[in-house]
Amino acid sequence: MMTHTNILLNNMCEVLNGICNVQRGIDRSHGPFTPTTTTLLDQMKRQTQKHMCIFNGVKTQVITHWGDQFIVSLDEKTCKCRHWEITSMLCSHAISAIWDKIKLGTKNVPELEQWVHPCYWLVTWAEVYKHKIEPINGRLMWPIITSRQKHEERYDHTFALPRSPEEPEKH
Ligand SMILES: [Zn+2]
Repeated sequence: MMTHTNILLNNMCEVLNGICNVQRGIDRSHGPFTPTTTTLLDQMKRQTQKHMCIFNGVKTQVITHWGDQFIVSLDEKTCKCRHWEITSMLCSHAISAIWDKIKLGTKNVPELEQWVHPCYWLVTWAEVYKHKIEPINGRLMWPIITSRQKHEERYDHTFALPRSPEEPEKH
């Protein structure tokens, strides 16, 4: 029983620490995305520097400096490297295709940030973590119950199951 209690307590502490860490990350972040997303997106942007794009009017063929080729469909939000579909995070090929479309003068192409899934937006994380776990005082501040009977009365009142008809009523 003690082991189970310790495991439960450890798990609760880890969850609470996790929540605190996320909150700290949200408070320190600037810009529209979480810090990790910003770093990843910056890496992807750098990788686009040596990409070449061929737009056929519907889809874009992105050729990397290694000579690899990937088909990007902005309408379907897919890239054949599968990164975009699996993670909902833009891959470098998708970024190249978006920038290429903007460069070609295509109207109404959303800015790069708008293509990133809302799960990576800071506002989404702030919304998810806006409900706070109330801090609690230590044991010294807890109410003291002196009578076991008092405790049992309270327990009965709160959690008592309905009595069966055969059970005699207590007096
Ligand atoms: Zn890709």
